[in-house]
Amino acid sequence: MTETADAVVVGGGVNGVSIAYALAARGVRRVVLCEKAALASGASGYSSALVRMHYTNEWDARLAFASFPVFRSWTEIMGGPSVFTHTGFVNVVAPPYAEALRRNVEMLRAIGIDTVALSPADLHDLQPFANVEDLGAAAWEPASGYADPAATVEGFRRRAQDLGAEVRQWTGVTRILRRESRVLGVETVAGRIDAGAVVVAAGAWAPRLCREIGLDIPARVKGLDTVQVTRPAALTDPHMIFIDNVQGSYFRPESGIRTIVGVPCQEWDLDPDGPAVLAPGAAAVGAQILTHRIPALEGATLARGYRAFDCYSRDRHAILGRVDGIDGLYLATAFSGSGFKIAPAVGVCMAELILDGRAKTVDIEPFSLRRFAEGRSPEGPYPYAQRRDHAVPD
Ligand SMILES: Cc1cc2nc3c(=O)[nH]c(=O)nc-3n(C[C@H](O)[C@H](O)[C@H](O)COP(=O)(O)OP(=O)(O)OC[C@H]3O[C@@H](n4cnc5c(N)ncnc54)[C@H](O)[C@@H]3O)c2cc1C
Repeated sequence: MTETADAVVVGGGVNGVSIAYALAARGVRRVVLCEKAALASGASGYSSALVRMHYTNEWDARLAFASFPVFRSWTEIMGGPSVFTHTGFVNVVAPPYAEALRRNVEMLRAIGIDTVALSPADLHDLQPFANVEDLGAAAWEPASGYADPAATVEGFRRRAQDLGAEVRQWTGVTRILRRESRVLGVETVAGRIDAGAVVVAAGAWAPRLCREIGLDIPARVKGLDTVQVTRPAALTDPHMIFIDNVQGSYFRPESGIRTIVGVPCQEWDLDPDGPAVLAPGAAAVGAQILTHRIPALEGATLARGYRAFDCYSRDRHAILGRVDGIDGLYLATAFSGSGFKIAPAVGVCMAELILDGRAKTVDIEPFSLRRFAEGRSPEGPYPYAQRRDHAVPD
């Protein structure tokens, strides 16, 4: 049986459901989202879901800034219970990057983001339990926090369906259909859907799906390891969220008495359908990161750990936009470990691109697939030290 849709979205992670919602909100009548398993079963369901705006490039920062009000005022904008927990956020760097951080804070403030540069002593006043000895500066966002990732996906699904979109779980897309330079639709496990627009928001599975139609995207699958600890009695109050560029990691409070820490993981080209096994020693590395920055966490106890996968592009920025040479095919993928907080704006921008020919809310051209052929990257002029686990192997 062949059905017809105006647009098919492949993938039910936070970006897929946000795109489906945005298309339906713009009045597109037949939007079908196909998810091969349950919604949020990819990176989105495991995301640490930091909602902050500090970036070393203007374009990601603009997407995060445009998305932030949706998280902060979720109930008013999306309906349903709040998904956002306010904690405050700091991005900390070593002394050689202090000037770069101040320049980035100026760039972010010019966008309208509420952030200031702090000295290590200022940060110590805010978080007296933090070790600031090896820090050069910190960028503070007083209003930032984190989201509940599954509840966010569910909220977008609910609104998309309220507006008439169809969300089909357990409906894998087996093939994108194209004839020469035009997309025709998709083949799914439940039959064919003809559509004028197909959006690939398939996370870590996107490179494989694209390769099958001869489209090689410069992106690879990487593991991400996360450890959760229960904080000791000495530190039961939540701390702020830290992105710790000195240690190449981040940590944030979770549900009152726990802390989540990202453990650097240098495992690439993994099969996202394969076993998701935490690296041996991840718990010990996580503990080291936490106790270095907050010595009082020495008494923390391990709660759990898990591995997930995300798709990383060659320059570690998302790939967003149309595919030159295949009319009607769009990509929203390769979010490179950073695609949760920007999902609300990604949805709106992709809908604008599909319906108006150009994204207006934020210019997403810097994220286009063609940038790789043209030797461009969204990265700004003041990057920090590259994280060890971000060095893409040859
Ligand atoms: C541990 C971890 C921590 C993170 N922390 C943060 C953070 O703090 N802040 C932040 O902004 N980002 C963070 N990220 C990154 C962010 O979560 C991801 O970039 C984002 O969730 C990707 O969303 P997505 O919708 O593009 O992909 P996914 O959530 O991976 O969804 C893709 C979906 O597509 C489906 N699919 C695949 N192939 C097919 C097919 N052929 N047919 C139908 N369906 C298909 C999959 O089943 C999956 O559900 C983190 C990621 C991880 C793993």
